[in-house]
Amino acid sequence: MSDPHRPDPFICYRRVPDPHAVSLDDGPALVVGTEGVFVAPHDSPVRLPRLAELRNTSADVTAALHQIAEYGGEPVYARAAGAAGVSLPARYEEIGYRELYGSMPDEELALVSRAVQVVSWDRDSAFCSRCAAVTEPAHDECVKRCPECGHTQYPRLAPAMIVGVVRDRRLLLAQSPRFRGRFHSILAGFVEPGESAEQCVAREVYEEVGITIRNIRYFGSQPWPYPHSFMLGFTAEHEAGELNPSPIELVDAGWYGADELPEVPGEVSISGRIINWFRREYG
Ligand SMILES: [Zn+2]
Repeated sequence: MSDPHRPDPFICYRRVPDPHAVSLDDGPALVVGTEGVFVAPHDSPVRLPRLAELRNTSADVTAALHQIAEYGGEPVYARAAGAAGVSLPARYEEIGYRELYGSMPDEELALVSRAVQVVSWDRDSAFCSRCAAVTEPAHDECVKRCPECGHTQYPRLAPAMIVGVVRDRRLLLAQSPRFRGRFHSILAGFVEPGESAEQCVAREVYEEVGITIRNIRYFGSQPWPYPHSFMLGFTAEHEAGELNPSPIELVDAGWYGADELPEVPGEVSISGRIINWFRREYG
């Protein structure tokens, strides 16, 4: 019986000791490659492989298999594509995570995000980061323990902040050298050791455009598996100073009214959700 109060997908973790012992008709299996995950990109919505399809066609079913969640009452598995190769049916292709935004349900995108992070952690923690011994995985928790020195390695998240700053009913948008065309977004940056989220937001805005802000308010969050970030969104108001974009970080920054926005991110990312909040509040 499914519990109506339980979130779906439900986060759980189990490293499968013997992939051969897993039932063939068990749920979705996310295969993580070096650039993205394997999906059937020509289906609409985009479809994840089933474990049965993976097992029937795989030359290597002995690689580490992680049960990362339950979704729709089924277990969800993740594994690395691996050097030995997982031969999937021809219609499955490796697609970058960003390209999947908007083409599959948000709940399944959350599974992809988790799979990418768990598999990355598994690959990156094969050896102890203190003494270089081969680590041992736990079977019911995302942790690797070192048998020599006892050091533990959990999946590590790098929190990043993103903020929509408003002045006189206009939104601060900037263009990074990495953006193409007229694409602009709100400001973002990584938290530094010892900082609070709010201090990071204020510092990033000051470093990137030279203004101070006030009334910093939490907006929402989003997993950001590149490969292990976590995005916290905020809104804020201009306090003092004029825009002076850092030539290292930005090629342009400006204040934009709701009816004069340049090309901006879509609703599927938290930056797009903050920009749509601005449109609703100030449009
Ligand atoms: Zn060690």
